[in-house]
Amino acid sequence: MTPNNPTAEKKIIVWFRKDLRLLDNPSIFEAISNGYSIIPIFIWDSDSNQKWAPGEASRWWLHNALASLASDISKLGGNLSFYHGDPSSILSKLVRESSADGVYFGRAFDPYGMEVEASVINSLRSNSIHQQSFNSTLLVEPWEVQNKTGKPFQVFTPFWRHTRKYIFQEPLSYHLDNISFSDFPSSGIALDDLGLLPRLDWHQKLHQYWEVSEDAAHKRLAYSLSSVVDSYSHRRNNPGIDGTSRLSPYLAWGLLSPRQICHAVLENEPEGSNRGQNKFLTEVGWREFSYHLLYHYPTITDQPLRPKYQSFPWLNDPDTLDKWKFGNTGYPMVDAGMRQLYETGWMHNRVRMVVASFLVKHLLISWNEGAKWFWDTLVDADLASNTQGWQWAAGCGADAAPYFRIFNPILQGEKFDAKGNYVRKWIPPLDDVPKKWLFSPWDAPKATLEDTNLSLGENYPEPCVDHKFARARALEALSTI
Ligand SMILES: Cc1cc2nc3c(=O)[nH]c(=O)nc-3n(C[C@H](O)[C@H](O)[C@H](O)COP(=O)(O)OP(=O)(O)OC[C@H]3O[C@@H](n4cnc5c(N)ncnc54)[C@H](O)[C@@H]3O)c2cc1C
Repeated sequence: MTPNNPTAEKKIIVWFRKDLRLLDNPSIFEAISNGYSIIPIFIWDSDSNQKWAPGEASRWWLHNALASLASDISKLGGNLSFYHGDPSSILSKLVRESSADGVYFGRAFDPYGMEVEASVINSLRSNSIHQQSFNSTLLVEPWEVQNKTGKPFQVFTPFWRHTRKYIFQEPLSYHLDNISFSDFPSSGIALDDLGLLPRLDWHQKLHQYWEVSEDAAHKRLAYSLSSVVDSYSHRRNNPGIDGTSRLSPYLAWGLLSPRQICHAVLENEPEGSNRGQNKFLTEVGWREFSYHLLYHYPTITDQPLRPKYQSFPWLNDPDTLDKWKFGNTGYPMVDAGMRQLYETGWMHNRVRMVVASFLVKHLLISWNEGAKWFWDTLVDADLASNTQGWQWAAGCGADAAPYFRIFNPILQGEKFDAKGNYVRKWIPPLDDVPKKWLFSPWDAPKATLEDTNLSLGENYPEPCVDHKFARARALEALSTI
């Protein structure tokens, strides 16, 4: 569509999706390049029947990210409008009402996001409305790389050999002052009326742990560059210290792009070959790999990538699942992780692996249950990384840990939380338990525990399953498939 009056303001709708930022945003870059003033909008299109609709913690993050984006836009003279409903009809109507030249937006790679996108593109095309989409969230789009036989990658190392070169990209360069916002009046609704905030006030405490804004994402990135990345290779596995970037929630809703992260890391060391930097960039690569898998195998959100795991004899045990969810399994390393998650909306990666392994191997409960709980409680919930993480832990995904390799939650604690800072922080009754018994307090001599605050079975549970028994049971279950 072209404007009727050539002297009138040239307008374009920028539909924010999972790229809730002003910097390094291709839709904004393109608008500036083409001399458009922007009508910025966000559409909440999820309903409770939708599979993998954003969970509670994720919606809390989204609400706050939108509030912050709206405030940033308003400082630049614009007005972020909010809509609730079907993006196809909202966008078509808005283009008509505003006489905008069309719609710019970032592409999605999850099944639901792609379905919405296909319907939007069809509907805009059928109304002869111009639309253009961009890659605003990945270093490399899933269809851009393939293995030697022309198929999607299923193993990380060759995937990263092919894709590592994409870390060398400049973020898009423009000044925020060059963004021009249209004064087209909003026909949207208030942010609060999107109903994103969870009904229970569980989320209130999350404010203590997270500052949700594009600015905060850059502060965290700057902190990571000064205090995390160089030492990443030897500190990243210790959950008791601030040894990882905690950038994941900012990436999940696109307050920061992976391109900005890689570029910032490489500014310090252009080849990225320092051990810490290389390892850190490789982890960003795991996020890319997760998207590659999700795009090419969209059923993996619910079905194992390796079909033989479909017949795995999972147990249906809601009581034990609840013990796991709320950190009451009696295994300190597992419980500390689950309590950190419920309290802060985030869990350290090493501990995510330990708790996931414990659920699927020690408790023999399906990875689907774990993935759903994480989905609801993680502020960084990301369908690609969550699915990949759970299938990895359950041994049924691409490049997964073999099921027969069973993490020992006691040894994992002794190795990665050697000083016990992590479990003591999240499980206060363990505070004065001697290190020797910290990860298996039930083995401690009675006399030793009498001198401590710990009272097993009262202020901290006995183990819900015996490690040796659970290990043998898991291997037995594996042998049946
Ligand atoms: C069972 C399970 C579920 C998970 N669910 C999610 C999820 O829903 N959302 C999510 O973002 N990550 C998930 N992860 C991956 C990983 O645990 C988090 O990305 C990481 O802990 C985030 O913390 P960070 O930002 O400090 O990471 P850092 O160690 O600082 O890494 C930097 C970035 O690299 C990426 N990254 C790091 N490790 C991984 C990984 N193993 N897989 C994919 N990307 C990675 C993240 O984007 C992260 O922000 C899951 C892992 C497991 C084992």
